[in-house]
Amino acid sequence: MKYVVSACLAGEACAYDGRPRTCSAVERLVREGRAIPVCPECLGGLPVPRPPAEIKDGTGGDVLAGRARVVNCEGRDVSGAFIHGARATLEIARRHGVRNAILKARSPSCGYGRVYDGTFTGTLRPGCGVTAALLQEAGFRILTEEEVQHLVL
Ligand code: SF4
Repeated sequence: MKYVVSACLAGEACAYDGRPRTCSAVERLVREGRAIPVCPECLGGLPVPRPPAEIKDGTGGDVLAGRARVVNCEGRDVSGAFIHGARATLEIARRHGVRNAILKARSPSCGYGRVYDGTFTGTLRPGCGVTAALLQEAGFRILTEEEVQHLVL
């Protein structure tokens, strides 16, 4: 089985703070040629490092539907970059015939099931990041790095 994976989990220093979020199981999948690393925020044109961002007043699905925005800690609306990166990620996955993803938990792009609530206080709310929401809508099976450590992939 092949996966698209959050590039920061594969050891790429692409997180907002310019550091990786390495997950050994994901690194192994990439080494074995079974995973394609993608960073939706970089694909959307955002720099590394960059100010952290959270979804305000909604979830990734709401951002895709135009009902909520992704705003960084400086107050800048970065929704367009997040949506662009999500679409680019879906396009890459489709080009490779991939329908499974392992995504970084809680990220406003990659988070699956729970994301930060837009207050920059570390508070979580139910929902997905923008890319996870788009992949979910497209029928992908999504796991987070917190689930894969003990799975045989
Ligand atoms: Fe990692 Fe996703 Fe954030 Fe990129 S957008 S740094 S892949 S969590």
